[in-house]
Amino acid sequence: VDSGKLLVIDNDLAGRAILTQRLARSGYAVEVAGVGAEAIEKIRKERFDLVLLDQSAPNGCGMDLLALLRATFSRTELPVIMVTAAHQIGSPGEVLDRAANDYLTKPGEFLAAPLGIETKLSRAQAECQAIFTDPLTGLGNRTLLMDKMESALAAGSASSSVALLVVNLDGFKLLNASLGQRAGDRLLLSIANRLRVAFGETALARIGGDEFAILLEGEDTGVQSCGRLEELSSAVVACFEHPFLLNETSLTITASVGGSACADRKTSADELWREADLAMRRAKELGKNRWELFDPAFRERMQARACMGVDLHHAAARGELVAYYQPKVHLPSRTVVGFEALLRWKHPTRGLVPPGEFISVAEELGLIVPIGEWILAEACRQIKTWQRKFADGDRLSMNVNLSVKQLHDPALVSRVESILKETGIDPSTLKLELTESALIKEVHSAKDTLSQLRALGVGLKLDDFGTGYSSLNYLRTLHFDSLKIDRSFIARLARDLETQAIVATIINLAHALHMEVVAEGIETEPQLKKLIEMGCETGQGYYFSKPVSASQAERLLRPVAA
Ligand code: C2E
Ligand code: MG
Ligand code: MG
Repeated sequence: VDSGKLLVIDNDLAGRAILTQRLARSGYAVEVAGVGAEAIEKIRKERFDLVLLDQSAPNGCGMDLLALLRATFSRTELPVIMVTAAHQIGSPGEVLDRAANDYLTKPGEFLAAPLGIETKLSRAQAECQAIFTDPLTGLGNRTLLMDKMESALAAGSASSSVALLVVNLDGFKLLNASLGQRAGDRLLLSIANRLRVAFGETALARIGGDEFAILLEGEDTGVQSCGRLEELSSAVVACFEHPFLLNETSLTITASVGGSACADRKTSADELWREADLAMRRAKELGKNRWELFDPAFRERMQARACMGVDLHHAAARGELVAYYQPKVHLPSRTVVGFEALLRWKHPTRGLVPPGEFISVAEELGLIVPIGEWILAEACRQIKTWQRKFADGDRLSMNVNLSVKQLHDPALVSRVESILKETGIDPSTLKLELTESALIKEVHSAKDTLSQLRALGVGLKLDDFGTGYSSLNYLRTLHFDSLKIDRSFIARLARDLETQAIVATIINLAHALHMEVVAEGIETEPQLKKLIEMGCETGQGYYFSKPVSASQAERLLRPVAA
C-alpha cells in the first residue's frame, strides 16, 4: 500500500525509529530529519503529503519550526501533525492554535491499537487533498500541477527534462450552453477518462473549465528530442478523433494542444506554463483541432499583437479607421451596381494597414463589435449619398462584412434596424457578408439572428464560398440569398479544367436555388470571359478596380450613372 509520503521531524533517534517502523508497516513512505535546517531543506526540495513534527525538542524549537512552515504553506497545502509527549498534553489547544492540523501523544498513540494514528493521518491528508483535486474528474488541479512542475524542475538532473502540454477544448463553452451543464459535465468526464487511459492519472490535471494539462518528466519521456513531444501532442489530438458517447448520442469535440519542453534548468514553472499556453493559442489561431510546440517567435508575435490591440483601442476615436470601397460589377454590361465596404487603418507610423493584420486582434479584444458597427453606419450613409446623387443610383447596393463575433452580439439586429432608419436607405440595398469558414462552426447559434436580419429586409451573402462545407442546401435554410465564390477558384479558372467544372456547378446549383452568384478576385480578361460564359452575373476584382477611397470610388460612378 502506498498511503503517502511522510516526513518525520524528530531529534530523538529512538523515538523516530519507533515511529518510522510503525508508519512503514501501515504503507507510508517515510523520511526523517532533525528539527531545524535539515527539515527545512528537505521540505523545500520535495513534496510531502504530511509532516509529523516533534514538539518536545528543547527550547520550543518544534513550535518555531511550525510557525516557519505555516509562513509558507497553509494547513491544506502541507498538513502538520504535532507529536507531543504525554506529559505535555496540557496544552493541545496551543498546538492547534498555531495551525497544526492535529496532534499525537507519544509514545502512547504510536504503540496502541491502529486507531489513533491512522485516522489522524488520513483525516489530515484528506483535508489537504481537497485543495489539490478537481472535484468533477478527481484529477489533480492547477495548484497540484504547478506544485509538481516546480518540484520536477527543481529536482531534475541535467539529463532529464520536463515538458508540459496544455489541452484546450475547441468550442466547449458553446457546446456546454446548448447541451446543458449536466451533459457538459458528463462530456468532460468522458474526455478526462480518455486522456487518463492514454497518459496516466499522475501526468494529467484539469486546470480550467475546458482545459487539461499533461506533465511529462524524466528521462523516459525523452522530451529533449523534439520528435517525442510532437508524437505525444499528436496523440492528444488523436484522442478526440472518435466521438464521445453521451446517453447514446455521439458528440464530436476537438482540442487544440500547445506544448513546451524545458531541457535546461533555467525555466520556471510559470514560464513553462506560459510557453505551452502561447503555443496552444497559436494552434487555435491556425484553425484549432491541432497542436503546436512553443517557438520564441510566438512571444514576439503575441507582444506585437498586444501593442496593436492598444493602438487599435484609440484608432477609432482618433479617426484612423476608414472605409474603402471596391465596386461590384454587372459582368455582361460591365456596369457598377454597388460596392463592398472594406476596412482600412490609417496607422500614424505604419501607413495603410490592411484588415488581414488587425481584424483578428479586434475580434480577440471584442473591439470588432464597435468597429463593425461604425463601418456599417458609415457605409450606409455613403450609399445613401450616392443613391441620391446619381440618376439611377437607386439600384446601387452596399455590401458590408460582418464578423461572427458581431452575430453573437445580442444588440446586432436592433443596431442594424436603427442604422437603416437613421440613414433612410432601402433595406434591400444593404447586403451583409459572412465568411463561410467562420460561420460554419457556429451555425446553429447564429440561425435565429440570421433570420431576424432577413426579416428586416437586408440581403445575406456568404463570402469565400468553397472554403468551408460548401453545402448550398444548407445555405438556403440559413436564409442566404447569394454567395461569393472564393477568389482561389477564380485565380485557377482560366487554366484549370477541374476548377472550371467546380465553378460551373456552383453557378448552376445556386441559380437553381434562386441564389445570386458573385465572383471575387477577377484579375484578368480571360477570367472575366469565362465567368460570363458560365452565366455568372456579378463580380469584383482588381481587373475593374482595387478597393479605393470614397472620393475615388465616386469617380467610377460618373460615366455610368451621372
Ligand atoms: P473579403 O470580404 O473576402 O474581401 C475581399 C478581399 O479580397 C479584400 O481584401 C479585397 O481587397 C481583396 N480583393 C478584391 N479583389 C481582388 C483581386 O482581384 N485580387 C486579389 N488578390 N485580391 C482582391 P481586404 O480588403 O484586404 O480584406 C480582407 C478581408 O478582411 C475581407 O475579405 C474580409 O473578410 C475582412 N474585412 C474587411 N473589411 C472588414 C470589415 O469591415 N469587417 C469585417 N468583419 N471584416 C472585414
Ligand atoms: Mg467580403
Ligand atoms: Mg471574400
